[in-house]
Amino acid sequence: MAAGSPHGGAGAGAGHFAVVDPATGEGFDTAPGCRPDELDAVVDRAHAAWRGWREDPAARTAALLAAADAVEAAGTDLASLLTREQGKPLAESYAEVARTSARLRYFAGMDHGPQRIADGRPVRSEIRWRPLGPVAAIVPWNFPLQLASAKFAPALAAGNTVVLKPSPYTPLATRLLGSVVAAALPEGVLTIVTGREPLGARLASHPGIRHVTFTGSVPTGRAVAAGAVASLARVTLELGGNDAAILLEDVDVEGIADRLFWAAFRNCGQVCMAVKRVYAPARLHAEVVEALAQRARTAVVGPGLDPDSRLGPVNNAPQLARVERLTNRALADGARAAAGGFRLDRPGYFFAPTILADVPAGSPVVTEEQFGPVLPVLPYRDLDEAVWAANDTGFGLGGSVWGADPDRAGAVADRLECGTAWINHHGELSLAQPFAGTKESGVGVAGGPWGLHGNLRPFVVHRPEEAPA
Ligand code: NAD
Repeated sequence: MAAGSPHGGAGAGAGHFAVVDPATGEGFDTAPGCRPDELDAVVDRAHAAWRGWREDPAARTAALLAAADAVEAAGTDLASLLTREQGKPLAESYAEVARTSARLRYFAGMDHGPQRIADGRPVRSEIRWRPLGPVAAIVPWNFPLQLASAKFAPALAAGNTVVLKPSPYTPLATRLLGSVVAAALPEGVLTIVTGREPLGARLASHPGIRHVTFTGSVPTGRAVAAGAVASLARVTLELGGNDAAILLEDVDVEGIADRLFWAAFRNCGQVCMAVKRVYAPARLHAEVVEALAQRARTAVVGPGLDPDSRLGPVNNAPQLARVERLTNRALADGARAAAGGFRLDRPGYFFAPTILADVPAGSPVVTEEQFGPVLPVLPYRDLDEAVWAANDTGFGLGGSVWGADPDRAGAVADRLECGTAWINHHGELSLAQPFAGTKESGVGVAGGPWGLHGNLRPFVVHRPEEAPA
């Protein structure tokens, strides 16, 4: 853990920054800003700790399983702090904590033992997978805990040490998570550092780091990759998405409307692989718009700590301004708000769940990642045209196809240019699957054994076979 109390502490001194409750728009606590000399010391400690940590896989497994238990035991504190600073409904925070401990368990015992290479030559060749060294992990504010564990669980299981930086909008639950997990590990194996920029840039370009694993937006991903050029550290980037959902002619609109709505609006739409555009057959367009708008009008919006809330606030003021700007631009472009279309007149960063119809295809709410509670529904006349439009983006994270015949929908899904395609649902991920975007949505692979291998390097040993006696 970085110096200081587990999660900041109100009234903490110079060098601390305010953390805002998005349900009120008011600061409620502070977190410490990590100075450059402190960051150097943290990376030095991560190097020192690496020597012991990489040696003993059985001890690593035991420590990571103990950490998973500790996360579960701290579930209530983690979930309520997460909701307070992130805004999401408490039930979603509990689900995020569960996913965090599940990741630790999943990677804890993953085997990366030696592999023989058989190529027919009389040489015994073996790959021995080796860790890389200290890993820098940088994560955004939408799923702070889940994404932190998606970074540190495979990196630690592979025998690396980790320095993790959460978003300055959501530092507190991650600091608490760090103190809970780090207590089960040797000193220096996992350290959380918090602060505003340029802390992330410093960490990404730090000469003591051997792998920078980043989740966030495309522009910041480019900056992170550029920063790692000097050290030539490995770079893994999980970036934004603009996932399309294509509805087919035979779709049962009422039957899928709940699933489709929540695939777009869960976590207030702040999900990299949320449905961000819907393409509906022209004949069904009005029915789809109305089914989604009816759900948008009746979804209970309120503070995440209120058990009735299904949708919380947008996480932060700049993101709210972005959502508002994209919506206003779409309305100015000729779109119609079938539901919402405005910021709610109450304290905090609340935006009415918004369904947009009649949006010009080139409007930024269609071409960019809105990352908020706003969904454009676009009509199409020809399925090829819809597939083309779905793929006509620099992003390539996910996509889905919805229809009565799953095989037919599956054949259309096969044509999507993305990392994960879903049929009749959207956004489900398995811990065991490779998660990777194509095009500008990312570089490298997370999840499953691929996630572990992203934190390992092959070390190959060749030895002539013994001549037969
Ligand atoms: P962001 O890119 O603004 O910030 C992400 C992290 O990078 C934060 O910790 C931030 O403090 C840090 N950062 C900012 N400038 C930096 C710099 N110059 N160098 C190093 N680090 C820097 O993203 P955000 O607004 O926090 O999150 C939203 C974005 O994250 C969306 O684009 C979303 O799609 C994406 N995302 C992607 C995935 C995925 O798995 N593909 C998952 C979740 C979110």
